[in-house]
Amino acid sequence: MNGIAGKRIGKPQGIVLHNDAGSQAATVAFYKEWLKSHPPYLGFAHLYVANDGIFQAEDLSNMAWHTANALGNREYIGIEICQSLGNLNVFLDNERKACQLVVQLLKKYHLPITDKTIKLHCEFTATACPHRSLECHGGTIKGVRDYWIKLIKQYKQTSSDDKDKTGLDLNHDKKETTNTSNSNNHDNNSSSHIVRRVVGSAGVYQRKKPTTKASASYLLQPGQKFGFKGYVKGESISGNPYWLVGKNSGEFCWSGGFTDKSLTGLKQLQWINSNQRS
Ligand SMILES: [Zn+2]
Repeated sequence: MNGIAGKRIGKPQGIVLHNDAGSQAATVAFYKEWLKSHPPYLGFAHLYVANDGIFQAEDLSNMAWHTANALGNREYIGIEICQSLGNLNVFLDNERKACQLVVQLLKKYHLPITDKTIKLHCEFTATACPHRSLECHGGTIKGVRDYWIKLIKQYKQTSSDDKDKTGLDLNHDKKETTNTSNSNNHDNNSSSHIVRRVVGSAGVYQRKKPTTKASASYLLQPGQKFGFKGYVKGESISGNPYWLVGKNSGEFCWSGGFTDKSLTGLKQLQWINSNQRS
């Protein structure tokens, strides 16, 4: 949104989670197009989380018009949990992904997990938002926040245990040069069989198994580069069944989520589903 709501002074105080009033069609692909013609003063968040990825609509150092409240807009990063009407599992999955994203944001700004840093939209203004989260988690602000905080603490635990598996952060604009030179070094090392891919604009989930049914360990951010040691055949998404296997993590990322969707340079690996052993 190019800073239309102005630059934030200092670091944000926390995160406000929203539920859009969107149908199952209100995906990241939809919001990307829709925001182009949507008058910004009618509201927009920094980040949109849906079942096809994450979309960052505004730089995190800028403010956004997402709470109908001056303090909320100025001091908080807004995350829209999309597809909040219809299929419950899709919504709950998006909500979990949003909580993983919160872990990264809190880490980036060195913020603790408290009732001051994790906010519901309805704490800032009279609104039904986050309507679906309220419906699912007890109908009260406390019920919803307790649920979110529980998830956020869980994901934080996993993310610090596996620190060196990703190298994720949201400062990709600043890191561009470093990444490029690193990748050149790696590319010259022909014995490693590591192929690098750049995450596409919607972001990519790193999952325990090559299927969207498996829980996501990380959200790889648009523009970040990651190394992969090969690919496997997994769940087919939009006709593409190939999933890349992380160099260090051994976990899976759907190949369609990268800027280069080809399997060039990658070798096929065998994936054994532990559920199928018996
Ligand atoms: Zn809202």
